[in-house]
Amino acid sequence: MKTKLSFDIADLKLLATHSSFERGSDYYDQGRVKKVMNERNIYEGKVKGTSTYDVRLVADGHALDFACNCTYEMGGICKHAVAMGLAILDGEYEFTPEEVSKLQEENGTMLSYSNTYLFEEIFYIAKDELKTQFLHQLLTQNEQLRNDFIQYVNRRAKEHR
Ligand SMILES: [Zn+2]
Repeated sequence: MKTKLSFDIADLKLLATHSSFERGSDYYDQGRVKKVMNERNIYEGKVKGTSTYDVRLVADGHALDFACNCTYEMGGICKHAVAMGLAILDGEYEFTPEEVSKLQEENGTMLSYSNTYLFEEIFYIAKDELKTQFLHQLLTQNEQLRNDFIQYVNRRAKEHR
């Protein structure tokens, strides 16, 4: 499962000079991008050139903030950044363990939310007869619930007297 990316290849092209883009593209094709890790909007990876460089990307919508520890200073982002950006666009990254647990947490919240919603829907359309039957079954099985039920009914009966 991959999250939807906030940027595309046009954003990368805008940030790089034509030659950086071409060279970065070659780097990517040559498999020079090593494992890229993603947590929230931050990507970190290593790209193998004359030596191995650490590339970091903070993606804030279409605004991409690349950092690389190479010495490139010819304008725009370096070829290592381009190569890593292309790898990310191809889905070649993994979530950090922290990101995995965050995503699981979020999915869990969504799941219980839809479960609550479903319950409300079903409860509303279920026949009273069915609800009574189910309630009776629950109360028979659970003494605590049974006491709660008796108290609830007594209280309501007093209110209506
Ligand atoms: Zn670089």
